[in-house]
Amino acid sequence: MNSDDLLASVSDVSDESEFYTPMPDGYIRGRCRYVVIVGTVISGLGKGIFSSSLAKLLQDKGLKVAPIKLEGYLNIDSGTLNPFRHGEVFVLDDGMECDMDLGTYERMLDLNLTRDNFATSGQVFTRVLEKERHGEYLGRDVQMIPHVTGEVKMRLRELAVKSNADVVFVEIGGTVGDVENAYYIEALRELAYEEGPNSVCFVALTYVLEPSTLGEQKSKAAQLGIKRLMEMGVQPHIIACRSARAVTEKVRQKIAQYTNVPLARVFSMHDCDSIYIIPSMLREAGYDFEVIRLLKLEQRINLRKERKAWLKWCDFLDRLEALKYKVTIGVTGKYTTVRDSYASIIHALDHAGVHLNSDVDIRWIDTTDINDDNVAEKLAGLHGMLVPGGFGVRGAEGKIACIGYARENNVPFLGICFGFQMAVIEFARNVCGLKKANSTEIEPDTDEPVISVLPEQKKIEGLGGNMRLGGKDIDLTVDTVAWRLFGQKPKTHMRFRHRLEVDPQYIDTLSKNGMIFSGKAPNQPIMQILELPDHPYFIGTQAHPCMTSRPLNPQPMFVGLVAAAKKLAYPQLQLPDPAAAAELILQQTRQLQLTTENSS
Ligand code: GLN
Repeated sequence: MNSDDLLASVSDVSDESEFYTPMPDGYIRGRCRYVVIVGTVISGLGKGIFSSSLAKLLQDKGLKVAPIKLEGYLNIDSGTLNPFRHGEVFVLDDGMECDMDLGTYERMLDLNLTRDNFATSGQVFTRVLEKERHGEYLGRDVQMIPHVTGEVKMRLRELAVKSNADVVFVEIGGTVGDVENAYYIEALRELAYEEGPNSVCFVALTYVLEPSTLGEQKSKAAQLGIKRLMEMGVQPHIIACRSARAVTEKVRQKIAQYTNVPLARVFSMHDCDSIYIIPSMLREAGYDFEVIRLLKLEQRINLRKERKAWLKWCDFLDRLEALKYKVTIGVTGKYTTVRDSYASIIHALDHAGVHLNSDVDIRWIDTTDINDDNVAEKLAGLHGMLVPGGFGVRGAEGKIACIGYARENNVPFLGICFGFQMAVIEFARNVCGLKKANSTEIEPDTDEPVISVLPEQKKIEGLGGNMRLGGKDIDLTVDTVAWRLFGQKPKTHMRFRHRLEVDPQYIDTLSKNGMIFSGKAPNQPIMQILELPDHPYFIGTQAHPCMTSRPLNPQPMFVGLVAAAKKLAYPQLQLPDPAAAAELILQQTRQLQLTTENSS
C-alpha cells in the first residue's frame, strides 16, 4: 500500500484496518511540510535556538512557518514547574504557561504564538483518555501505537491547518533514548511515512566531545546517539554537530559514514557568543537551502523578500557587535544561579541595549541578606535596578530595601510583577506611613494588606489554575511617562501571570501621596502600571513586559530603563530623558517596519 492509499483508508477507527490516523477537517496532504528537530547524546544542545534560527531563515524567504514544541513530561502545562529546574515559565498571549523555548521562537520569528504551539504528554494523554471515555475508539483496546501516536500526528496536522503554514517546525523535547519522548519520535516516523517523500525533514542535533585530556574531538558518542535514532526507524537528513570548537572535517566524515548522511549535510554548529549569530551561521553553512531542496520548496520562496529581511537582521547584528557604551543594571533574584529563570529579562535588556548602543552588564543581586543598613554598599556602582517577578517570602524584605534605596537615591528602577508589588509596599510603608504594609503572600495576616489576592481570583482560590494569565489591555493615563513610552497611545497590551494585586482600598492613599497609577485595567480597579514623578525613572508594572520584547522591536519599559541608566552613567552626553529616548526608538522601529512592508 502506498501512502496515498494508506491515507485514503485510515482516517477512522474501524475493525477493518489496523491503521488509525485521525485527520483534522481541511487538511491537504502535501500543502504543509515538516522539519523535525531531535537531540542526541546530551540535553541542553539548544534545539529551540537551532530550530527557531532555521525557521527564521525560511520565514525570511517568505515561507509561513509555525513552530511546535513537544514536551515529554506529564504536566498539562509548565505553570507548576520550578524555574530553578526548568527555566522560566513563559506565558503566551492566550494565557498558556509554557516552556521557555516558546520565548525563543517568539523572539526569533517575531510571532505571537498560542497554545497550539505547545504540546505536553499530559495534554496528549488527556485527549486520548477523554476520547476513550466517550467511546470514540469503538471497542478497540487503546494503545500507544496507533492511538497515542495518532493523537500526536493530529496535533501537528491541526497546527498545519490552523496556521496555514508552509513548514511546521517540530521540536521534540529531551534526548533520543528517553522513554518519555520515544512515542513522539515514533509518531513522527509514522507522519513521514504517511506524508510521503520530501514532506518531512529530520534534523539530528548531536554533540561532539573534546575531552581536555585528549585534546582532540571524538565522534563516538555522536555516532551512537544517531544510531539510536536510526534504530527507531528514523533516518536523519541533516546532522548538526554541537561542540565547543568548529568540528573538524575528519570528525564530520566519520559521522557521515556511520549515519548515511552526505558529508555536505553534516554541519558544525560550535559555540558562539550570542544566539542572534546562529541564523547567520546556519545561513552561511547553507542549511536553509538544504532544507528547501529536501522539501522541494523552491517554487514557494521569495528571494527579494529575503534580501530585505536579511539586511534588517544584519543591521541588528552589526549594532550588537559594536556597542559603544556600557551600563550596569542590578537584577535582584532568588534564582540568581540559574540564568534560564530570567531568560526573557536578559533578552529584553539586551534588545533595549542594542537600540541604545549600550552593552548592558547585569549584576545579579541576591537579596536574602540585604537590609537598610547594607543596601547602599550592595548597590554601589549600579546605573539601574530591576526587580523581577517572583513568588514567596525569601528575599522579599531585601527587595523592598533595594527599591527604597533606588527611590531615594534617584537610581533608575523597573519593577516587574512581584517587583511592582514590592514597590507599592515600600511606598506605602515609607511615604504613606503605613508601617505595617505588606502583601498577604508574605504575611497572610498583615494589618495593612496593600497587596492581596485579587477580588476576582478569590472566588477560584484553592482550585488550582487560579492565576490571572495572558495578554490584557491596559488603559494609559495621558501625559504620564508610561503614556509617552508607549507612543502616546490611549492603550497598550502586555502579558500577565499573577494572583495578587494592589488592594483597591489603598489606591486612594497611595495616589494622594504621589504614586501615579498610569496604567489600569479597562473595566476593573486593577492597577497595572505605577510611576513616580520627580524621579529620573521609577516605574513598575504588574505585567511581564519582558515577554513581548523582540530584537527589532525592543519593549518600551526596558528601553526606558536602559536609557535612564545610560543617562546616569554618561552625564557628559546630556542625553534626552528616558521617555523621549524610547519615543525616538519607537518611531525608528515603526518607520523601518513600514519601509520594508511597503517595498516587499
Ligand atoms: N507572587 C505574585 C503574585 O502571584 C507575583 C507573581 C509574579 O511575579 N509572577 O501575584
